[in-house]
Amino acid sequence: NLSDKLDKAMHVLKGHGQITEVNVAETLKEIRRALVDADVNYKIAKDFTNTVKEKALGQDVLTALKPGQLMTKLVKDELTELMGGEAEGINLSGNPSVILMSGLQGSGKTTFSGKLANFLKNKKTKKPLLVACDVYRPAAIDQLHVVGDQIGVEVFSNKEEKDPVKISEAAIAHAKANGFNAVIIDTAGRLAVDQAMMNEIAAIHEAIKPQETLFVVDSMTGQDAVNTAKAFNDVLNFDGVILTKLDGDTRGGAALSIKTVVDKPIKFIGTGEKMEAIDVFYPSRMADRILGMGDVVSLVERAQEQFDEEEARKLQKKIAKNQFGFDDFLKQIQQIKKMGNMKDLIGMIPGAGKALKGLDIDDDAFKGIEAIIHSMTPDERTQPSIINSSRKKRISKGSGTSVQEVNQLLKQFNQMSKMMKMMQGGGGAKMMQMMNQ
Ligand code: GDP
Ligand code: MG
Repeated sequence: NLSDKLDKAMHVLKGHGQITEVNVAETLKEIRRALVDADVNYKIAKDFTNTVKEKALGQDVLTALKPGQLMTKLVKDELTELMGGEAEGINLSGNPSVILMSGLQGSGKTTFSGKLANFLKNKKTKKPLLVACDVYRPAAIDQLHVVGDQIGVEVFSNKEEKDPVKISEAAIAHAKANGFNAVIIDTAGRLAVDQAMMNEIAAIHEAIKPQETLFVVDSMTGQDAVNTAKAFNDVLNFDGVILTKLDGDTRGGAALSIKTVVDKPIKFIGTGEKMEAIDVFYPSRMADRILGMGDVVSLVERAQEQFDEEEARKLQKKIAKNQFGFDDFLKQIQQIKKMGNMKDLIGMIPGAGKALKGLDIDDDAFKGIEAIIHSMTPDERTQPSIINSSRKKRISKGSGTSVQEVNQLLKQFNQMSKMMKMMQGGGGAKMMQMMNQ
């Protein structure tokens, strides 16, 4: 998916100690390809990478102390900017405030109408009324009633009336007479943009003059989402976009393009079929998600992918039998590394990013350790106690490290082995003793 690809692109960049113009270009090309693969319009993706490149050159990324970090920040800031900068709420002025839903059939209008009603109801200051204006399918009216019952919100409908304008007007009158201060109008959609649908929604819009007109779009429709958004915006000049079905492995392409093409903010996202699956859209969070940062779920998923359960069981047996050696240690390091860049991993832990900001976590933190272990003989790896001072010298030479570093690793490993043994034996008291030393 997009996240993985961008991650890979950034990884290439971070892996290099020094960044050359060539690998900035390479990375941007990778990022562009990833965006296009995620259905971002080619021109938008190209403009995006060009802007990042200009900014990168303007800020001397090539000579910066931490080029990878600077580049990540540039890409993230630019993504955030592209998706709208600050989060924007919906306009709830007016009494009642009238909110009109628009969008294709299946985009999630009815579901989102329910979610929004529930969201407003939970705010306590709003008493919402749902209005069924999909006059073509009786089942659609029933569907809204089911939703309304579920969340305890009244639904206004009239199966005898075939004119959605009249239904909307009657609903607003009903709201005024009965103390509803938010009216959410669910409308009919078609499978593709056509004139009849546009005329109908335009007529409702013209008659009731809603405070807020929302365009609901299925984020899984990719490139088409942009074309549909444009068609609806030309007719309605809507106020905001609702991006649905951003759960599962949905690609983020639509979020990136829509704002650029229609210049309207994305206000909410739908992340599931349940009434609670609604989130305010935060451009910076979306950028985080796309870049694979600050996302605990993906951290867990990645960790699960890489940590083979079988391997873990074997390891436990070895620890129990006191056979944990440097080869096992090396395996652990390699698994941690497979999970990705250390900084990225830490960045995914909420709060950790800030807390560890001052700390310099080198991507190559394990390099020296690995080199030292590689310079040991197989026997030394299983039984480190046989390493004498002349061997320490040889190992340090072979690994390009200092004897001090070799000593430090041996000491750390020794402590770790002791700790593991105690944890196995359940020796809590002994452990405390050791930690206090
Ligand atoms: P409408 O035709 O625009 O009114 O669309 P519906 O609200 O009837 O939704 C169409 C289908 O998409 C239904 O099966 C919904 O349950 C589903 N759906 C709507 N929003 C979401 C969402 O955010 N995530 C997921 N996974 N499904 C959704
Ligand atoms: Mg519907």
